[in-house]
Amino acid sequence: MIHLDKNGHTEEFYYCNDCKRETNHIAVKHHTTRRVYTVKEGLREEVFTGVIVKCEGCEYLSFVKNGFSETVNNGKAISTGTYSYRYPEETRNYREYKNIVNIPPDIANLYYDTVFCLNHNKLLFCAMGLRSLIEAICKDKMPNVSSELFLDKRIDEMCAGRVLSKNHADTLHQLRFMGNVAVHELAIPERKEIETAINIVEHTIENLYGVIAEVSQKKSLK
Ligand SMILES: [Zn+2]
Repeated sequence: MIHLDKNGHTEEFYYCNDCKRETNHIAVKHHTTRRVYTVKEGLREEVFTGVIVKCEGCEYLSFVKNGFSETVNNGKAISTGTYSYRYPEETRNYREYKNIVNIPPDIANLYYDTVFCLNHNKLLFCAMGLRSLIEAICKDKMPNVSSELFLDKRIDEMCAGRVLSKNHADTLHQLRFMGNVAVHELAIPERKEIETAINIVEHTIENLYGVIAEVSQKKSLK
């Protein structure tokens, strides 16, 4: 929760997405709204405070919202709640996007969307994205192999065509299996498993397309 003094000033330590460290933030502007209305349980009061805050390290602006609500019935509080969130949300645990270039746009978009899902903790979609990435790579590298063939056969074809090494094909089979389980059984994989899978896919893209893959310093794609 952000705390403002009676003059509306604050000095709080927050993580800054831009300079990527905890810095002192000051309130630039704030506003509080209070509303009271009737619900079937009684009378509900809500108080929200929105504060635009500025990083004192790099002057990056973000927003903090605090909220409080209480429902009263016959003078007795029957429920209360508080919350606080920041926008944009903190990216300290985000995986950096590789700055991949010169690869087919479909594959690049699938890669970015897959990492986006990881960063927003949508692990099931992330596993589905990984499977689709393998499909897209197969289609691009072996356009003459029918897309009606099961994916395992298409990976084998890439191996037979010397597009992939045997070890690499075996690894992609494991990823394919994880994607299948996600798609057919809606089984959510572990985050660590997904992170390892993304490492492998990044390595595969680098191997197959020979792209320069540098870690982006301040990538904000979405
Ligand atoms: Zn900053």
